[in-house]
Amino acid sequence: MRAIRYNINSGGGYMKTIKSLIDKQDDIDLAHSFYDACSNKEFKCFTEQIDLPQQILQNYTSSLEDAYIESCNCKKCRGLSSCKNKVKGYYYYPIKENQILNFSYVACEKLKEKEQKEKYKENIEFYEMPKDLLEASLKNVYKDDKARLPIIKYFGEFMETYTEKNPPKGIYLTGSFGSGKTYLIAALFNEMAKKNYKSAMVYYPEFLRSLKSSFQTDYTDKFNYIKKSPLLLLDDIGAENCSSWSRDEVLGPILQYRMENHLSTFFTSNLTLKELELALSITNSAPDRVKARRIIERIKQLTINLELVSKNRRN
Ligand code: ADP
Ligand code: MG
Repeated sequence: MRAIRYNINSGGGYMKTIKSLIDKQDDIDLAHSFYDACSNKEFKCFTEQIDLPQQILQNYTSSLEDAYIESCNCKKCRGLSSCKNKVKGYYYYPIKENQILNFSYVACEKLKEKEQKEKYKENIEFYEMPKDLLEASLKNVYKDDKARLPIIKYFGEFMETYTEKNPPKGIYLTGSFGSGKTYLIAALFNEMAKKNYKSAMVYYPEFLRSLKSSFQTDYTDKFNYIKKSPLLLLDDIGAENCSSWSRDEVLGPILQYRMENHLSTFFTSNLTLKELELALSITNSAPDRVKARRIIERIKQLTINLELVSKNRRN
């Protein structure tokens, strides 16, 4: 019995000794691989920038190597599109926390720059309009034909004088199909978004259809958003199937609110104001010239009238 008890006790101690020998061997292996990795002078420099002793750094050799490779990729960066790192636009990076290292993916400067440049896009709400209008820019507006000049001139004044408290009038921009009306207003809204002003671009005929089908759901939200947006474009007004509902329950109240609250409102249309008046007076119910006239009066209060007749740019 005695002998057995002795064996058990000494067995526990023996295991401890083996474990500490294994730990020591592990340490030696870790030190070796760290030492090997440091034969690359640049890797060594990279690790020396971390304020931790080698005994700790050596626990992370392979992660440090990954981080080092990504830092080299960044030094040779030729732009985001050709990023060689595992997660595009990010680099794997060691962060010291107390006496350990945590590795995480950090957004690179190029990605941050891009995100900053594109942040303006959050300021524009699109309703049934193509998102590529976000790329429209005043710099790229065709300057070959003089028809655009009065519009560009007004844009200049608009941007200069705009304040949310005292916004200038919008434009009722009429003209031929494909002449670039929508593109121009989108370019202005993009410039305004870069100055942090919010806007909504609404393809009016489609918006009406979607509003109609949302009676049971988010009708009021959609309606109010458009009504209150600091800058609003009602695109292609006059191309909708006019009904007394769309004229008297939608367009009328939107324009009334915007007039009372001095909110800049833009329209594009293939119709002149005279033609629009006629289009608005004919609905599925009885013709109503007075109600149509009232809408036109509101549009006149809200906008200056400009025309863009130019060749069709659609291909
Ligand atoms: P409209 O609204 O008058 O019918 P659009 O604004 O839709 O015309 O323009 C017609 C086409 O021409 C679109 O594809 C648009 O992207 C393009 N376009 C118009 N103006 C420009 C411009 N200045 N630079 C580049 N593309 C333009
Ligand atoms: Mg258009």
